[in-house]
Amino acid sequence: MKNNVLPKSMLENAHGSGIPMYDLCVIGAGMIGSATAKHVSEIKRENQRICLIGPSEPKDRHNDTERDIYGAHYDEGRIARTTDSNPVRATLAERSIKVYRELERQSGVRFFSEVGYVALAKKDSIYIKKIIAASAKCHLNFEVLNSRKAKVEFPFLNVNDNDSCIIEKKTSGHINPRNLIQALQLVAKQNGCDIIDDVVNGVQSITRANSDTYSEITLSSGQKLFSKKVLLATGAFTAFRNLLPRHPEPNIALISQTVLKVEIDEHDAYKLRNMPSISYDQQEETQCLPNNVLSHAYILPPIRYPDGKIYIKVGHGSDFEMTLTSSKEVAEWYQGHGHPDAKQPLLGTLQHVVKGFTPLSTTCDTCVTTRTPTSRLYIDMLSPTLGVAIGGNGWAAKSCIEIGKIAALMVTSDSGHWTYDIPRENFRFCTKKLSKL
Ligand SMILES: Cc1cc2nc3c(=O)[nH]c(=O)nc-3n(C[C@H](O)[C@H](O)[C@H](O)COP(=O)(O)OP(=O)(O)OC[C@H]3O[C@@H](n4cnc5c(N)ncnc54)[C@H](O)[C@@H]3O)c2cc1C
Repeated sequence: MKNNVLPKSMLENAHGSGIPMYDLCVIGAGMIGSATAKHVSEIKRENQRICLIGPSEPKDRHNDTERDIYGAHYDEGRIARTTDSNPVRATLAERSIKVYRELERQSGVRFFSEVGYVALAKKDSIYIKKIIAASAKCHLNFEVLNSRKAKVEFPFLNVNDNDSCIIEKKTSGHINPRNLIQALQLVAKQNGCDIIDDVVNGVQSITRANSDTYSEITLSSGQKLFSKKVLLATGAFTAFRNLLPRHPEPNIALISQTVLKVEIDEHDAYKLRNMPSISYDQQEETQCLPNNVLSHAYILPPIRYPDGKIYIKVGHGSDFEMTLTSSKEVAEWYQGHGHPDAKQPLLGTLQHVVKGFTPLSTTCDTCVTTRTPTSRLYIDMLSPTLGVAIGGNGWAAKSCIEIGKIAALMVTSDSGHWTYDIPRENFRFCTKKLSKL
């Protein structure tokens, strides 16, 4: 990981101190931070200098017990869909997905598999009704299929007579989060953004005699740099180093997630070649569910992973979630293999929803989502020089391009005015105390 020799462009003396000065430093080179850096690199003025700092993915997560900073993007598949029960989320997803192909062309990196998306649930369930209402309000492109049509369209799905499906045929499917980050960073770098592979240990605000305020950023290597503005896109780890002013603490819960990767062979992958990304919900019918079948799950269709094998991935809803409260707990979760009881129900649910494949092997993996009380993102300035873009709530991967754009517009605004067309109130930062108001 340690490539923390500072880039050449940083060697200029800032204020005679010998320490480099940036106009903007984005901390956190994950999904939102990389997207923000890309946008800022496109709108910055000629002589402005920006950097993106974050550690690259660990090579051997389960055996590196020294490490305590991770990302929610260490995977090959995240569902991309526009339909949602919340109009803001739907809009952010739609605007992001719209520019996927353009970013692929710009960067030369493929990250979007447009295989479609299906939400499968009871036909009159609140789950289905809420998605239809919000998605129709946003004029999204989707269809609702009754069970008869759904059985014909998706012969490999276990559709009951009183189920219905919301389907998005186009502009949906799954993204590869590793490749998407690579694409965003490539474009940012081409536009002059310095990318520094390191962890930030601290951000300290400094006010000079002429009242100018800037930040001193200390890297884990001990190296320092200065920046006129700082944006924190540090996901679940925002409170674990000295990045924020001591108070207030963000109102974010860190939630453990376990996923199961089920290996299949080429033959089964071929049979399932038309499988879309799937959300499955039976939360209003739990008493009718067979043993070992969860009431909510999401499923990614067959994807080839870097080990050369093909996996179908399944994740849970609120079952098996735990709130993690310390840096140590989060680090141990990332180093571990997930909830000990999750494997059988995840496999049982996958086999209940998808028919016609033989599991060859199963592997559990872990991740952490950041949950805000209202599932909203926090994109806000905590002071004129320090902003945050955090709180992905398990849904931000597909929308990171638009989220990065909002953060970029906010943090580069000299006047502090909010220029994005969705009101600022939707993205306000909440502290543990204030969010109760
Ligand atoms: C199991 C799972 C499944 C998911 N499925 C989906 C899905 O299907 N569709 C979807 O849209 N979303 C999904 N998500 C959510 C999505 O992955 C997250 O919302 C998204 O990754 C959040 O982006 P982020 O930039 O806020 O955080 P991250 O992607 O975690 O990035 C934060 C970055 O900050 C860095 N960092 C932290 N602290 C420091 C520091 N002190 N110094 C420097 N760098 C630091 C980290 O290394 C990391 O790279 C899923 C999440 C999980 C866990």
